Amino acid sequence: MPSRFHPAFPRIRRLAFAMALCLAAAGAGAGEQAPLAKRLAEVRELNKYVPERALPLLQQMERDGRAAPLGQRIEFLNQLSNAYDGVGKLDEAAAVADELVALGRQHDNNVALAKGLLRKAYLASRRSQLGESHRLAWEAEQLAYTTDDIDLKVRATIAAGDSWAEEGNFPKALERLQAAATLARQHRDPTQIVMSLNALIELYTIMREYEKGFEALAEAVKAAEKTNSPGRIATLKHAEYGLAVETGQYQRGLKALLDSLAIERSLGADSMGAYSLANLSDCYLKMRDYRNAALYAEQAIDAARKLNNAGLEATARLNLGQAYLATGRLAEGKRHIEAGMTAYEKLGDQPELQAVLVEYGQALERAGDLPGALRAYHRERKISDELFEKRRQRAVLDLQEKYDTEKKQRQIELLRSENEVNRLQQRIWWLLAAVFALASVVVGLLYRKVRHANAQLYAKNKELKQQSVRDPLTGLYNRRHFLEYMRAMPQPQERAAAHEQCGALFLLDVDHFKHINDTHGHAAGDAVLMAMAASLRDILRETDMIVRWGGEEFIAFLPTIPRSGLDEVAQRILSGISATTIQHGGQTLSVNVSIGFAPFPLSCGGVVLPWERAVNVVDMALYLAKAHGRNRAYGVQGFGDPSQICLDEIEQNLEQAWRAGKVNLSVVHGWEDQRASA
Ligand code: GH3
Ligand code: MG
Ligand code: MG
Repeated sequence: MPSRFHPAFPRIRRLAFAMALCLAAAGAGAGEQAPLAKRLAEVRELNKYVPERALPLLQQMERDGRAAPLGQRIEFLNQLSNAYDGVGKLDEAAAVADELVALGRQHDNNVALAKGLLRKAYLASRRSQLGESHRLAWEAEQLAYTTDDIDLKVRATIAAGDSWAEEGNFPKALERLQAAATLARQHRDPTQIVMSLNALIELYTIMREYEKGFEALAEAVKAAEKTNSPGRIATLKHAEYGLAVETGQYQRGLKALLDSLAIERSLGADSMGAYSLANLSDCYLKMRDYRNAALYAEQAIDAARKLNNAGLEATARLNLGQAYLATGRLAEGKRHIEAGMTAYEKLGDQPELQAVLVEYGQALERAGDLPGALRAYHRERKISDELFEKRRQRAVLDLQEKYDTEKKQRQIELLRSENEVNRLQQRIWWLLAAVFALASVVVGLLYRKVRHANAQLYAKNKELKQQSVRDPLTGLYNRRHFLEYMRAMPQPQERAAAHEQCGALFLLDVDHFKHINDTHGHAAGDAVLMAMAASLRDILRETDMIVRWGGEEFIAFLPTIPRSGLDEVAQRILSGISATTIQHGGQTLSVNVSIGFAPFPLSCGGVVLPWERAVNVVDMALYLAKAHGRNRAYGVQGFGDPSQICLDEIEQNLEQAWRAGKVNLSVVHGWEDQRASA
C-alpha cells in the first residue's frame, strides 16, 4: 500500500513563510504603540508563518485597525482573517472575510472586494467546497485586474490557476500560473516570483513534467536566495520533495524534508512543520523504513491536532496505520486507517477515500485478514458506484448545460439573423421609398419640363403660324395666305347687279418706288412700306383682308361693301396714302399709289369669274392707271353685251375693250391730279 504525502495545493503552505528578521522585529514591537501601519507591516510576515503568535497581536490592534483609514482597515481585516485561518478558527476567519467584502462593496473598492473574495476562496478550499472556492478565486482574479495592486494580482492569478488545476483543466491552469510568474518577474519581486513558481512546480509535478518542474525550482531557489529568507527556502524544499519522490529520488526528497523541518523548527513555524512531519512519514514508508515512518506520523498527528487541521491529521493517521500493518500490528493499524478514512469521509474527499480503500483491502489480504479485505472491497465498490453515479450525473449535467448553451447560442444566432433580415427588409423599404420619392421628383420635374416645352412649342407654333401667314416687314397677310384663303373659299355665287352689298378687290402699286430706294436708300423704302401698311389698316376696316402681294404691291379683299361705295374706297386709299408722311434720316417722305379694283365676285354674262381671273382683271385695271399717269384708280364696273364679249380679249387689252364699250370702267383721281385738273 503506497503511503500518502500532502502536496495537493495546501494553500496554507504558500502563505506560511516568513523571515526570521521580521519575526524578531514583530516579537519586539508587539507591546509598543508604534503607528498602526508599521505594526501591520511587522505582523504581516509573522502572520504568514506563525499565525498563533500573530493573532493576539492583531487582536490588540483591533480597535485602531477598524477605525483606521480605508487602506489600513483593508490590510488589518485581511491579516485578521488570515490569522484566524492559520490557527484553524475558520468561522471567525470567514466572518472577517465577509466584513472585508462588505467594506469593498460599501466603498466601491475593488482591492477590498478582491482580497475578501480571495480569503473566502481559501476558506472554502479548507472546507473542501472546491466548486465554491474556484468560483470565488476566479471572481477575485477578475476584480484584482481592475486595480493597480500588483501583489494582489499575482496572488489572485495564482489562486485562479490552482483552481483550474483542481478542476482538471491543466492547460488553463498552466496559462494562468505562467501569467502570474511573468507578472512577478516584470515586477522584479522575489517573493512574488517564489510564490508563483512554487505553484507552477506543483502543477508540473501533477502533469509529470518533471524536467520543467526542476527548471522552475532552480529559478525559484535563486529568487529565494535574493531575499535571504529561510522561510521561503523551506517552502521550496517542500516543492523539491514532491518532485524528488515522484521521480524516485527518495534520498533527495528525504534530505529536502529534513532541511525544511530544521528551518521550520528554528523559526517556530508549527503549521508548516506539521506538513513536513506528515511528508516525512510518507517518504519513510516509500523507503520501507516503517519505524521512522511511524515516528514521524505520530508527531504529524500531534501537530495537526494542535492546528485543528483535520485533513492533515487524516493523512498522517493513514500513514501511521500503514506503518503498523506493515510491521504486523494489525489491530492498531486498522484502527488508525479507519480513523483516517472517517475523517476523509467527513471532509467529503471521496476519490482519496476510494484510493485508500483499494490499497487497504490489498494490505489486509496480504496480512491474512480476508473478511476485513472483503469489507474494504465492498466499501470501495460502494464509493466507486457513488462516484460513478456522481460523475455520470455531472457528465449529464455538463452535457445538458452544453446543450442548453448551444441551444441558447443557436437561438441568439437565429434572433440575430432574423434581426439582420428585418434590418435588411427595413433598409430595402427605405431604399424603395427613396427611389419612389426620387422618381416622383424626377417625374414631377419632367412633367414640368414637358409642360414648359409644350407651352414653348405652342408659342413657337403660334409664331410659326403667324410667320407662315404674315409678311415679316409689314405684318400684313402674305401672298401665300391670300391664295390659300381664296382657294378655300367656296365658289362665289353670282349676286344680282341690283344687289346692294358685294365684295371687292383692290390692287395697289406704289408709284416710282424705285426712286425712293435709289434716292434715300433701301431702309427708307422699307420704312415707307411699313408706314403704308399702317395707313391701309387705318383706311380699311378690321374685317378687310390686307395682303402684301409682293415688292411694293398690296391687295385688299373687302368681303362686304355697298356696290356703289367702291369708288369712294378707292378715293380714300389714294388720298390716305398720299397724306401719309414718313420721317426718315431727317427727311420727310411721301408717296402716291395707283389702284386697280373691281367688285368680287365678278361675273360676265351671268358667269362668275374664277377668283384668279378676277385678280387678273384688277391687275389690268391697275396697269391702265399706271399708263394714264399714276396716282389714280381704275375700277371695272361690269361688262357690256355678254354675247359679244371674249374675256381673253378683255384681259389682253383692257383699254381697247373699254374704248369698244365692252367694259365699264370708273376712274378715280388722286389729290394732286385733282388739284392739277382743277
Ligand atoms: P412704277 O411702279 O411707278 O412704275 O415705278 P416703280 O419704281 O415703283 O417701278 P417698279 O415696280 O419697277 O419698282 C419697284 C421697286 O420696288 C423695285 C424694287 O427694288 C423695290 N422693292 C420691291 N420690294 C421692296 C422692299 O421690300 N423694300 C424696298 N425698299 N424696295 C422694294
Ligand atoms: Mg411694282
Ligand atoms: Mg411701283
